[in-house]
Amino acid sequence: MIVKLLLDAKREGRELDADDIRALIAAYTRGDVPDYQMAAFAMAVCCKGMSPSETHALTDAMRLSGACLDWNEPGAPPTADKHSTGGVGDKLSLVIQPLAAACGLRVPSLAGRGLGLTGGTVDKLESIPGYNATLSLGDFKDVVNSCGVSISAQTAEIAPADKKLYALRDVTGTVPSIPLIVASILSKKLAEGAGTLVFDVKCGTGAFMRTRADAEALASALVGGARSAGRKAAALVTAMDDPLGFAVGNALEIDEALDVLDGKSNAPDIADLSIEFAARMVSLARNIPLNDALDECRARLADGSAAGRFAAMSARQGGDLAAFRARPPARNVREVAAARAGYVASIDSSAVARAAFILGAGRAKSTDSLDNEAGVVLAVKRGDKLDAGATIAKLFANDRPDALDAAAKEMASAIGFADSPPPIASRILAAVD
Ligand code: URA
Repeated sequence: MIVKLLLDAKREGRELDADDIRALIAAYTRGDVPDYQMAAFAMAVCCKGMSPSETHALTDAMRLSGACLDWNEPGAPPTADKHSTGGVGDKLSLVIQPLAAACGLRVPSLAGRGLGLTGGTVDKLESIPGYNATLSLGDFKDVVNSCGVSISAQTAEIAPADKKLYALRDVTGTVPSIPLIVASILSKKLAEGAGTLVFDVKCGTGAFMRTRADAEALASALVGGARSAGRKAAALVTAMDDPLGFAVGNALEIDEALDVLDGKSNAPDIADLSIEFAARMVSLARNIPLNDALDECRARLADGSAAGRFAAMSARQGGDLAAFRARPPARNVREVAAARAGYVASIDSSAVARAAFILGAGRAKSTDSLDNEAGVVLAVKRGDKLDAGATIAKLFANDRPDALDAAAKEMASAIGFADSPPPIASRILAAVD
């Protein structure tokens, strides 16, 4: 494999040989290919694309660059995981993963921290006092096998080639390429080893994929890639124009997820979507009809079994949920009022995320620390009818009282008003089953 010849071939749009792609990734991981050549490779892929077999070879090479977990113990329950491309207020994993475990699956879920406007699933869980989200792979397996579910941070042993390549893509304008995104996401999820993978591809103003066509293309490519690697897979494309649920912020989102698990939330979008995703995991992994899986998921959420799985996982990973629930409120709280009367026609999730970020809920660089209590709790959903001056949101911050004014301005700008009720459509835009 001569890197310069591979670059020439990809620049001219020729299909690369799978063995050459494997050799390139192995050499890059060892440090034998310089970043400038790998950046040129990533840019050539952005411009010329990759065939499904090239994408498969790239995914496989990145998966094999590190540890791969094996869950094939005889007689043990099947394994499944859900991956989301990420959205504002997206706390679905906190409900879906324990719910799928309550329906008899083992759910190994290695998740990420957030970089950008809001925290990732791991950041949210770390707002529970004592919760250890940095398990070794051995401890991760033990928690999954004893509690049915574990959510822990991606370790450095999983797909190190992706870690290196993603950091390079981030600074060379080469993130938005479907084959590179597919190889990046799938290499990690395939290494994690679950037999069934379900993808939530978000689409809209608060999502990585802004258009429906791009979101559907990514969903199909993820499902196709997972299946060609021998896994069962499905995807839903879901709308991410307005935030999911009411809460955006790390501890605030754990509160909301616990309320959904306890049947105390009035955010139907979280419960409904969680049931849809968990049911696809259960249907594929246990080979039962989707409608039966939907019924089972509804029952296990309603009877507290999913809440029990979350509590067991949290306790096993050192989390103190009682202390979390009894914690004092954030030191600084501000209500934001509606500027006019009318129906809530839109809630711009990117503006809500900016408000949460300004308050301290996200990090601009990986070394920044988070204010766990910072964030926004919306008081409204699309379609609500408001009087002028009604509360539209509450802002919370421990550490940055001086940020409240700027966050309130962002939050006020997030709400679009109309004089008649807006149409309310399903959040599920498309399914790849
Ligand atoms: N998430 C990933 O893990 N990789 C990408 O390339 C994009 C989003």
